[in-house]
Amino acid sequence: MVKVAIMGAGLSGLACAITLERNGINPTIYEKRRQVGDRFVNCEILMSVLTKPIHDSIAYFSEKHGIYLQPTGNIRQLVIHSENRQAHIRGHLGFTNTRGRHDNSFERQLAKQVKSKIIFNSKHSYEHLLQDFTHVVMATGDAAYAARVQDFREDLTVTLRGAIVSGNFDRYTVRAWLNNKFAPKGYGYLIPISDKEANIVIAYPDYPENQALDTHALWERFYRNVCEICDQKLRITDNFEVSKYIIGICKYPRIGNTFFTGNNFGSIMPFLGFGQFASLYTGIQAAKDICGMGNYEECIKPIKESYQLSIALRKSMEKLDNSGFDFIVERLNGSLGNRIFNSNRNILKMAGYLLKPLTNKEQKNE
Ligand SMILES: Cc1cc2nc3c(=O)[nH]c(=O)nc-3n(C[C@H](O)[C@H](O)[C@H](O)COP(=O)(O)OP(=O)(O)OC[C@H]3O[C@@H](n4cnc5c(N)ncnc54)[C@H](O)[C@@H]3O)c2cc1C
Repeated sequence: MVKVAIMGAGLSGLACAITLERNGINPTIYEKRRQVGDRFVNCEILMSVLTKPIHDSIAYFSEKHGIYLQPTGNIRQLVIHSENRQAHIRGHLGFTNTRGRHDNSFERQLAKQVKSKIIFNSKHSYEHLLQDFTHVVMATGDAAYAARVQDFREDLTVTLRGAIVSGNFDRYTVRAWLNNKFAPKGYGYLIPISDKEANIVIAYPDYPENQALDTHALWERFYRNVCEICDQKLRITDNFEVSKYIIGICKYPRIGNTFFTGNNFGSIMPFLGFGQFASLYTGIQAAKDICGMGNYEECIKPIKESYQLSIALRKSMEKLDNSGFDFIVERLNGSLGNRIFNSNRNILKMAGYLLKPLTNKEQKNE
């Protein structure tokens, strides 16, 4: 008899559980924390341009997979800031959502759709679960676990420093920053939670040259820039820091009857750190394979391909200085940006093509 253990009650683990239940298997879910989403609150996004040809991921998960998610809002405008330029991109660009302890966080919404038992404060190891179950789904959101168990290629680690701020926001506008002065080789962003609250974050890789930087000074510069752009003094009500957040990918998405899903598989796209879509998707596909309704390794090939494109794009972007970012942002403003973000093409492939002249120039100069 099939007996499934899921390690981790986050996005991929819970999406896996819902899909298994719908097909007649009740897994046991092991969660190390006291409850679902028992961590800091932050705001994340699902960007349509990264999931093409799927344009509306919320509709896709409900119609194709019976997984119902309520975003906090839809994104109608993306403003990208470089040091001296801004690009305003409009359209139906994606969704914002909350995570962690927030009442309506994605993981808490998923938990309400799960009937199976969740064992909290779990200290069960993977090796332990292997003894008691026919199948184990690794969904711990922490690639360090995957790296211990199998051949995991770590490409980089990232520091994310963020705060919840109160002020006045347009809840349909997300902002992103490409500016090496406060996010060297990384990015910053502002995602509204409501008209009165937003999440601001800087994320940058832990390369040796970045480790020598004063993170406090980077954050202060970013915070001041956000206040200036938003034309108001934002009040910080909460903050968080994630260090050494691993970005990498497994060689084997499945070993025997162990399935690696979400961040354990390699769901975070190295370019801008998006991982929610792939986490939900890999959880669902692992469940389908266990139920004899698909081949996990085959189904997640597009995610592997996106990962490779995304790492190539990151490497290209890392070569750019602030004038390179100004050049790109200026071109993205107006019809080109709108066309790219609203087209049905894969942005990762397109961006690689657009960046080629710039990165070739840099390489020649090196
Ligand atoms: C600050 C930040 C901002 C982000 N922004 C975005 C964004 O805007 N868009 C986007 O698409 N992605 C974003 N991501 C990435 C996205 O959040 C992840 O890719 C996604 O949540 C991973 O899902 P998961 O199922 O692998 O893990 P999670 O959803 O993190 O769930 C893992 C669960 O496993 C539990 N666990 C851990 N260890 C154990 C253990 N040993 N035993 C049992 N349980 C365990 C954890 O407590 C947790 O509940 C962001 C990530 C961070 C950190």
